[in-house]
Amino acid sequence: MTKTSTTIGSDWGYAPAPESADHFKLKDQYGLFIGGKFVPAASGKRLKTINPANEKVIAEVADGGEKDVAKAVQAARTAYDKVWRKMSGRERGKYLYRIARIIQERARELAVVESMDGGKPIRESRDVDIPLAAAHFFYHAGWGDKLRYAFPGKSVSPIGVAGQIIPWNFPLLMVAWKVAPALACGNTVVLKPAETTPLTALLFSEICQEAGLPEGVFNLITGAGSTGAALVNHPGLDKVAFTGSTEVGKAIQKSLAGRGTRLTLELGGKAAHIIFEDATIDQAVEGIINGIYFNQGHVCCAGSRLLVQESVEEEVVTKLKARMESLIVGDPLDKNTDIGAINSKAQWDRIRDYLKIGEEEGAELFQTKCSVPEKGYWIRPSFFTRVAQSHRIVQEEIFGPVLAIQTFRTLNEALEKANNTPYGLSGGVWTDKGAKIFKVTRGIRAGVIWANTFNKFDPTSPFGGYKESGYGREGGRHGLRPYVELS
Ligand code: ADP
Repeated sequence: MTKTSTTIGSDWGYAPAPESADHFKLKDQYGLFIGGKFVPAASGKRLKTINPANEKVIAEVADGGEKDVAKAVQAARTAYDKVWRKMSGRERGKYLYRIARIIQERARELAVVESMDGGKPIRESRDVDIPLAAAHFFYHAGWGDKLRYAFPGKSVSPIGVAGQIIPWNFPLLMVAWKVAPALACGNTVVLKPAETTPLTALLFSEICQEAGLPEGVFNLITGAGSTGAALVNHPGLDKVAFTGSTEVGKAIQKSLAGRGTRLTLELGGKAAHIIFEDATIDQAVEGIINGIYFNQGHVCCAGSRLLVQESVEEEVVTKLKARMESLIVGDPLDKNTDIGAINSKAQWDRIRDYLKIGEEEGAELFQTKCSVPEKGYWIRPSFFTRVAQSHRIVQEEIFGPVLAIQTFRTLNEALEKANNTPYGLSGGVWTDKGAKIFKVTRGIRAGVIWANTFNKFDPTSPFGGYKESGYGREGGRHGLRPYVELS
């Protein structure tokens, strides 16, 4: 295990507090989960999944291809026709409830595996990812027999087989966001997790077995982008749900054009986080930290563009620097760690490229001085000042712990800048004045806007974007809509 450096300033330090990883045993190899059983890929090919904090291989997983996708879609179709669509909503709800309970029972194991496979701090996987994944299943378990109340006056039926593709930033939570509403509404699923973080989705497949979920209702195909493309291109899907980059989202939309397969897309973001001079600055600074440094900034709704009212810029930046210096970067399994490892070498390279681009564009880079482990992929919390609206670091999604700070004088200027982006996923505002909150929340074109807080998630609350951030909502009553047929 990497030893975390936990020195804060010169006088304070934390003794390492690593979470143990000896209370469960991962397998060396995992198959695909098709028709209720683990099976190898038809090609026999496998991919390695590594721990980004120490670059060691954790396990090998099957590299699924077209033949495997075809088998999984067939299994999902059979389960849909013969079992799942015919089952009462009440009975389906019981399975979701069982899955939620088992996620809770295996929470510690799931949290540790999530941190090992993806690099996120154990505090976040333990307190955010896993409890929210369970909450998502509990919430949707309740909808199972109440769908007619969600859509009054309509007759509600499922759509069929859903192909779902998820990213690596919240691996198990994204499984829950995708699978829970699909199953609650009576659909069956073939899911592809991201290539760098397949392990908790594989453990989720075991949980489905443990819960006695009828075979074929949930199927998992591990693999990389080409496996995802094979899934999207399979003609047997009734619905595709994708969370990931805008680039891949656009490609998926093109390949589905004219096929009549329903599609929802949750893509990138470049959220404006607006701090007015009347805000409680100390709390706002905590909000900024949470907004951009939570989960290494691997968050599509991250507050990656800070807009500070000019009169408080100096105070905000000074306090932000002081607070950032207290952030501990290091071993994701250490309970003291605030910022874990960057998810993959590719993402690490990408963020470092953006740091270079920012400096070349003329912006001023600030990075904290903390030490980082020698092995693994690390980026110190960073921000840029002296940025222009046209800079790439202001316009493009970096998906790392890198903030761009701009100033504004009036509310209208703040809104103008906030909306000057191709994205529209989220936003945030800090102010003492309710009237300003309403003006900002109405004035920013984004799916989610937080006021005097940031990055709060709840299964009852719909999440999704506008513009190049995609369409469709996940969570809440709105999140059921993409998975039902209404007549
Ligand atoms: P990121 O840039 O965050 O890695 P991607 O959009 O590349 O996001 O990845 C999100 C998910 O989409 C992953 O599961 C990945 O394997 C999958 N994916 C990548 N390329 C394609 C594609 N052409 N078709 C379908 N899925 C893809």
